[in-house]
Amino acid sequence: MKLPFSYKNIHSCEAVVLACIDFRFWKETMKFVEEELGINTYDFPKMPGAAKAINDCQSETDVPLQCIGVPCDLHHAQKIVIINHADCGAYGGSAEFNGDLEAEQKFHEGELKKAKEKILTQYPGKEIILAYAKLTDGGESVEFLKIA
Ligand SMILES: [Zn+2]
Repeated sequence: MKLPFSYKNIHSCEAVVLACIDFRFWKETMKFVEEELGINTYDFPKMPGAAKAINDCQSETDVPLQCIGVPCDLHHAQKIVIINHADCGAYGGSAEFNGDLEAEQKFHEGELKKAKEKILTQYPGKEIILAYAKLTDGGESVEFLKIA
């Protein structure tokens, strides 16, 4: 297969978007990033649990932090987006919260904020955008909420 390459001589992107590897969410995550956040060029690393991978890092040479560092240092990304999602297996899934969707969301908000603080110590000038992909309508929809 041969395709046109859209980025000849282009080495910068607007953002890095860190999401979970979960196959159920990443296509919709791209839609949210492009249509809602208006970001069209971004590195898109995926690690189990997204924020969890950052929070579990012991050193800045750990792979999850490199997934942030390379886009910032080599591709001049100015925005860092971290997206956690409901029923994330890396955290034990929704079962961990006994069906309490509000408790699950609160937990993920805490995880996202913790990851933000950790990244800001390394990249103080960057804009960090946090989001949570929530399952709604009895599991029929996924709704992306920006976390302030
Ligand atoms: Zn996940």
